[in-house]
Amino acid sequence: MTDTVLAVLNQPSRAAEPHDPGADSFTWAKPLEEHIQVMDLGLTRGDGVFETITVIDGRPQALEAHLARFGRSAAKLDLPEPDLDAWRQAIEAVCAGLDPVREAYAKTVLTRGVEGLGRPTGWVYAAPSADQTRDRTEGIGVVTLDRGYRHDVERTSPWLLQGAKTLSYAINMAALREAVRRGADDALFISTDGYVLEGTRANLVMSVGGRFVTPRTDIGILDGTTQADVFRFAEQEGIETAYELVTLDDLRAADALWLVSSIRQAAPIHTVNGVRIEMDLGMTERINDFLLSRQD
Ligand code: PLP
Repeated sequence: MTDTVLAVLNQPSRAAEPHDPGADSFTWAKPLEEHIQVMDLGLTRGDGVFETITVIDGRPQALEAHLARFGRSAAKLDLPEPDLDAWRQAIEAVCAGLDPVREAYAKTVLTRGVEGLGRPTGWVYAAPSADQTRDRTEGIGVVTLDRGYRHDVERTSPWLLQGAKTLSYAINMAALREAVRRGADDALFISTDGYVLEGTRANLVMSVGGRFVTPRTDIGILDGTTQADVFRFAEQEGIETAYELVTLDDLRAADALWLVSSIRQAAPIHTVNGVRIEMDLGMTERINDFLLSRQD
């Protein structure tokens, strides 16, 4: 925790009043001291959005893609539009403030603010990442869990906020614990009508007959910044890529599977519901080399 660098934004959204008129766009803060008020709706209702950004050698990766998704998530929650210039500046500052470390992350949080004030709260912190070597080199086991929604939920029931990166991750964490209870490392959500969605904190990428396939992003899942860059890698390698509706049968028939996300990057999957899947460790290494050397 002492390695954590924190900045609290003075005016997270231009449409709302600053917290301190005339102050700088962010203030440095000590992570162990109190900054967030107990009546902040981000805490009391999980009413807010966030991003987690990989930081390599002090440099945030896929920053513009993360900022764009931060804005889209905020719009889905009808939050005042985040001032992306102020956020970019604060993210770069906390990353630069880290002690030199190969892998770290920056987390941005925008909440609806203290109840009754009508002014959002925003902060960003950076901290060193936990070691990801085991997941990347030995692989992970997943179990499939029902998410309880149809694959078209984003269109039929937008108030369920599927596809937005909200602070309400208690369900994702409960699914993760259920996966561990079943002897796996992570869960893969399935829609009630049988389509493969995403992991609890990651997207699925499959290798199928020499192509890379990922579930379509309009089915109530996050459009992953890492998945997009895995496809960039594939296209550079001449590997065809596709966004498709993926069934459990497609999953079983795939040649290799990965969960991909910021911080972890690409983790090969060795078992689905206890059934062994061939891992392509050579390809995994190439994907991770590409991801970890991203300069933008
Ligand atoms: N899906 C969910 C539910 C996530 O929480 C995340 C990341 O945290 C992702 C997908 C992957 O997104 P990204 O690659 O942008 O980190």
